[in-house]
Amino acid sequence: MQTAIFFESIEEIYGRIYRWLNPRANLQQVSVRFRKYANANSRIRLDRDRLAVDISDILQGAPAPIHEALAILLISKLLRRRPDPSSVAQYQRYVNTAQVQHAVQLAKRERGRKAMQHPSGAFFDLNQVFKDLNGRYFEGRLRKPTIGWSLRSSRSTLGHYDPAHDAIVLSRVLDSAESSYLMVSYVLFHELLHTVHPAESRSVRRCVHTVEFKAAEKQFEGYDQAIAALKKFLAQTSLC
Ligand SMILES: [Zn+2]
Repeated sequence: MQTAIFFESIEEIYGRIYRWLNPRANLQQVSVRFRKYANANSRIRLDRDRLAVDISDILQGAPAPIHEALAILLISKLLRRRPDPSSVAQYQRYVNTAQVQHAVQLAKRERGRKAMQHPSGAFFDLNQVFKDLNGRYFEGRLRKPTIGWSLRSSRSTLGHYDPAHDAIVLSRVLDSAESSYLMVSYVLFHELLHTVHPAESRSVRRCVHTVEFKAAEKQFEGYDQAIAALKKFLAQTSLC
């Protein structure tokens, strides 16, 4: 008995899915490149009858069913259709595995740069705020991450800790006359706690506040006033 095992190439997967989702298409060529991105993102475009796909090299070793799920996602996006939810879930489960997340963190650290502005802003000096918080809550023993103001004045995300760069970025919207030391120091305190309580990889956004985190956060002097002030300052506040 003869056994033949045929492995589809990634180009063939994309060709098959494209013709399946768009049967009347006249597709002549598919090109897939693996690129050294600083994340796990992928891109797709159609040049006349040629499908061009750029995939993060982090996904190069992914099993064929994952490449098929990604093909369904990208081609659906290209055709402006809602992607099959089970394919979305399958792909996200894979990207959220510890192994892939580790590779993403490495790529970010090596390839990405953290864009931020100097910590001494127009109204508040984040290095000084860090020094105060470190002395008051961490016995001066907290390791100092890279700290800076964001380039844009985001109102939806006031602060963010990026473990790949060990960097905290505070929204520039807080460096203003309408802001206060209480608000700035509370947001920085919150982000510093993320350096002490590492996030568990549970979701794509990886924003996790554990029970211990929340308990530690309540230690902040004037916690209720800070939250109330921030709520007043912004219609929508979000910390991650
Ligand atoms: Zn947070």
